[in-house]
Amino acid sequence: MRPAEALLVELGISDPKDIDVDAIADYVDAEVDYRDLAGCEAQIIGYRDRAVIYVRKSAPYQRRRFSTAHELGHWHHHRGQSFVCRPEDIGRPIDEASRNVERVADAYAADLVLPPFMIEPRLASLGKVSLDGIVEIARQFSTSVTATAIRVMRMTKEPVILVAHNMFGKRWQWPGVTAGGLSVRSDIDSRSSAFFAMSGIGKLGPPKKEPAGFWFDRRHIDQFDVQVQNMRTAEGEVISFVRIFDAKLIEIYG
Ligand SMILES: [Zn+2]
Repeated sequence: MRPAEALLVELGISDPKDIDVDAIADYVDAEVDYRDLAGCEAQIIGYRDRAVIYVRKSAPYQRRRFSTAHELGHWHHHRGQSFVCRPEDIGRPIDEASRNVERVADAYAADLVLPPFMIEPRLASLGKVSLDGIVEIARQFSTSVTATAIRVMRMTKEPVILVAHNMFGKRWQWPGVTAGGLSVRSDIDSRSSAFFAMSGIGKLGPPKKEPAGFWFDRRHIDQFDVQVQNMRTAEGEVISFVRIFDAKLIEIYG
């Protein structure tokens, strides 16, 4: 069990609605203050055994919780130090520009607000993972759909790839462990349902079958179809769940 999960167990927390990040901060001698912050998303000022955490108060509730948890990650792993965290440092563990300390804090945050030991039984009862299921888990845990989707991708063995786009193209992708080395195109295909999802804020589309060529720039890949489900998130990105039906696609191109 990882440190954040161990802390939850120590506190006797087993229900997502009891994961109160402010109370948890208090327990570890960190005080949280939600206030206006310019140029950063959150920060921690640590001194000896006490810390003060500032979180941008105008951020959405789910985002504030994750930011507080991220600073608690710094407090656990980098005790006594101070950090100023940019928006792209928090909830973006795949941002190559992020420093290693930020990834460590982010992993702690994800373990605290989306602890694997609580997610696992929910994933099992979902059967196949889908964006619908992820939206429901996000609701139960008061987390963003993106953070929840990344957590699920770290755990699932299904052949799916999570992709995030904005108007300029692919932002990042997270392939499931069984999706091999497949990498989706860096642009967004205007025939793909992801392109149309750009305009539908907060809307969750139905899963759709599409030619694999809409997603992968590889020779003759259009002999295969993939299943795609999209949602435009509060952050203004479209996240897509690309499911590979045919194991042969991974064998040939993965
Ligand atoms: Zn940080």
